[in-house]
Amino acid sequence: EEVDPYVETHAKAAMADARLADAPEILGRGSGHISYVGENNPDRVIAALCRIFNIEYRARTPEYQKKIDDILGKLVVSRGLIWCPGCPHRASFYSIKNAIKRDGRNAVVTSDIGCYTMDAFPDGTQVTNVLHCMGGGLGEGCGFGQLKQFGFEQPVISICGDSTFFHASITPLVNAIYNKSDMVAIILDNSITAMTGFQPHAGSGRTATQEPTQMVSAEELCRTLGCRVEVVDAFDTKASTAKLMELMKDEGGVKVLILRRKCELLRMRQEKTHPYKVWVDAEKCKGDKCGFCYRILQCPGVAYDKQSDKAKIQEALCAECGLCADLCPNKAIVKEERA
Ligand code: SF4
Ligand code: SF4
Repeated sequence: EEVDPYVETHAKAAMADARLADAPEILGRGSGHISYVGENNPDRVIAALCRIFNIEYRARTPEYQKKIDDILGKLVVSRGLIWCPGCPHRASFYSIKNAIKRDGRNAVVTSDIGCYTMDAFPDGTQVTNVLHCMGGGLGEGCGFGQLKQFGFEQPVISICGDSTFFHASITPLVNAIYNKSDMVAIILDNSITAMTGFQPHAGSGRTATQEPTQMVSAEELCRTLGCRVEVVDAFDTKASTAKLMELMKDEGGVKVLILRRKCELLRMRQEKTHPYKVWVDAEKCKGDKCGFCYRILQCPGVAYDKQSDKAKIQEALCAECGLCADLCPNKAIVKEERA
């Protein structure tokens, strides 16, 4: 097990309670066979087993590792760390990047832990400047938002997801209001805790055991705290961009922008249908002269077809959300509402 020896400790306790005469010895972190820090990678597990069986441990040689890498390189298709097809964060970050560019003051963006963290990785839009820990995004924004008095002129944007908002960002939001920070807090509301496996949260209206419960409204909470709050559909990139630009110009303290759109995987689970039929009109597609949909938007649902020099919808992956159709600069992607 990773991190704390939870199972190990409780297994030991259960055996102690049972007072087994021939209780087996439990080896792990407590016995020093496994380290308390770092990841349990194959080498560490092999080293632990070697100690247990009293076998000499030999780390993999660089030659052996290269052999593995070569074989895997041929078998595994390389794939960037990027959002799922149809993910609303793709649209949100497209809008955030656009708004920052059009605003022209090089806004500083602090972010948080969730699927949207992937913006900071090479395949994201990389508008994220600061990334620390759960709840850190709004806390850092609270600090940056007070630097105007020292000549800091960049607008401050702090991002968190809906789940992170309820778990760890309300306190820094209150601190930011209290400390008169000037910042835009963006809540990327995909209506679930998607990254860790679809756990509900205080804004879901369901308990962890799926019983209906009171749904805490993020916008009502923020308004009650005295913030200006705006709510926009994340897939409406024009409205999201315009609203963020407007909020960056508003110097009235903490503003909250909620970009709301259900996680595509959750929507699919609940609705079990695709909203549109989506395809590329080869006549209009400019192929690699453009490449916007597969290079900039980077949705795994659309790829470049070298043979035809056109973009091609990957039917097995595309969630048919229609975002690429809305954004294709040549109107070459068609989305047709399903009956
Ligand atoms: S964005 Fe439109 S024109 Fe550009 S490659 Fe994709 S489908 Fe073709
Ligand atoms: S419609 Fe376009 S953006 Fe949406 S999942 Fe399919 S390829 Fe991706």
